[in-house]
Amino acid sequence: MSTLAQRLEAVQSRIRDAAVRAGRDPATVTLIAVSKRQPAAAIREAYALGVRDFGENYAQELRDKAAELADLTDLRWHAIGPLQTNKARYVADVAHAFHALDREAVAEALVRRRGDRPLEVFLEVNLAGEASKGGVAPSSLSALHAAIAAHPTLHIRGLMALPPLTAAPEDARPHFRQLAGLARDLHLDALSMGTTADFEVAIGEGATHVRVGTAIFGPR
Ligand SMILES: *Cc1c(COP(=O)(O)O)cnc(C)c1O
Repeated sequence: MSTLAQRLEAVQSRIRDAAVRAGRDPATVTLIAVSKRQPAAAIREAYALGVRDFGENYAQELRDKAAELADLTDLRWHAIGPLQTNKARYVADVAHAFHALDREAVAEALVRRRGDRPLEVFLEVNLAGEASKGGVAPSSLSALHAAIAAHPTLHIRGLMALPPLTAAPEDARPHFRQLAGLARDLHLDALSMGTTADFEVAIGEGATHVRVGTAIFGPR
């Protein structure tokens, strides 16, 4: 049984190696430790090991953990899951960034609650047309981008995707490459892509934010 410290160190070292292989500065890759369905104690442990960026999927779980961990004032919460307008307040209250923006109604709900405080957002793209997942179709992305850009307090950092689960990490490469191309067209330089299954491939295709849960915290 490995410890959280050992698993975290292994992930960080794989991130460094993948960046170097891609000719990139490892400092350009932010590790978001995905802590959904993990106890607050595990987050405290990762925080004590130096992690500051944590990802949560569910709005109420984010609200509860943010309250429980409010003493960790420089912890950054990344809301990475689909969001309904009636729960937008939980994200607006505590998040540093929202990675799954795919509808103008959600943007409006976030802005309403957030007030003047800026919020970083990533536009989620549904690359493979999967009905079970959020995100806009690539063909609707530029319209969404224009609508979101009209909100001065939403800072569009880049694009996010969760490609279809495949047997081999390499199978995700064409999806990551497509997302990078879409970001380039919109002059966006941040890419939130790559999970436990495929974060090294994502880094090879330009990921700036990798969202890794299981490899750090173990199974949920
Ligand atoms: C759960 C989740 C992750 C992390 O997945 P792991 O396989 O545990 O690394 C990343 N991104 C999103 C959107 C998720 O829902």
